[in-house]
Amino acid sequence: MIFCKTAPADMASYPRSMGLELCVWPEMRKLCLRKNLMYEFIRLLAIPYKTMRGVSRCLGGVSRCCSVPNMSSSLRIELVPCLRDNYAYIVHDEDTGTVGVVDPSEAAPVIDVLDRRKWNLNYILITHHHYDHTNGNMDLKERYGAKVIGSILDKESIPGIDIALDDGDKWMFASHKVLVMTTPGHTRGHISFYFPGSKSIFTGDTLFSLSCGKLLHGTPEQMFSSLSKIKLLPEDTKIYCGHEYTLSNSKFALSIELGNEELQSYAAHVVHLRSKGLPTIPTTLKQEKLCNPFLRTSIREIRQSLNIPELASDEEALGAICQAKDNF
Ligand SMILES: [Zn+2]
Ligand SMILES: [Zn+2]
Repeated sequence: MIFCKTAPADMASYPRSMGLELCVWPEMRKLCLRKNLMYEFIRLLAIPYKTMRGVSRCLGGVSRCCSVPNMSSSLRIELVPCLRDNYAYIVHDEDTGTVGVVDPSEAAPVIDVLDRRKWNLNYILITHHHYDHTNGNMDLKERYGAKVIGSILDKESIPGIDIALDDGDKWMFASHKVLVMTTPGHTRGHISFYFPGSKSIFTGDTLFSLSCGKLLHGTPEQMFSSLSKIKLLPEDTKIYCGHEYTLSNSKFALSIELGNEELQSYAAHVVHLRSKGLPTIPTTLKQEKLCNPFLRTSIREIRQSLNIPELASDEEALGAICQAKDNF
């Protein structure tokens, strides 16, 4: 159930389900335009389950225990622009007041939102160790006593890490189940946080709208495997990525698949949003499957545009698309 079913005026002309799901209170919208912040409210009914509260492989040796009966609850996700083109996300459970932030590249904009809301901060969720995703960790940890959560492979490189998680681990954010998915390719230890109850995933620098992260510490095979895992999620999954790159990504995507009408339409919508200073995030998995060339490695037009042989594997095609994007 969504708090508000009215699409923002800017999105009303764009008949995508995402546009209708994105919900902005009128006052919030004014604030959003003024502060360049976009708010999303997600009301959801969580499925009752008994599961573990807490964490696995806590660095301090904390156990993974406590079953919690679950009840309906709501999760709210707020986008916080940071640095030049990064997004941090504040995640708020309205029932318990539990607050987390995903990938705070700097502390000040996050503190600004928390101060205005009069919220504390309980958790800092980190997708990977890069500076532009972790630089706010220590300031936020010191100020709020928040616990830092990240990949077990990044436990030496994520500042202040308290809780190290691995592929398939389940972690509880208040009453919301969070599934940890290892998604290497951009970095070796990259993870994504999937909230199945609210059909939302935080993909850091693995999957962007219309592209994927650069293969800095990984191979095309790893990235293909990571993207394939994400592709298996429900199509209406909302994707919250680490950067606002969609406009420039759309230019590359169009250059190799101009005949994709869905892509043409989405690219036009992206131009419109960015011309108003509005974010293009979250996107949806459905949208990305239709438009993102990095999820479309078998499409003939893309292969022909880049001279990728018909018999080349999807991994080889992805490698070629990544290389072409790097040189674009
Ligand atoms: Zn990165
Ligand atoms: Zn980044």
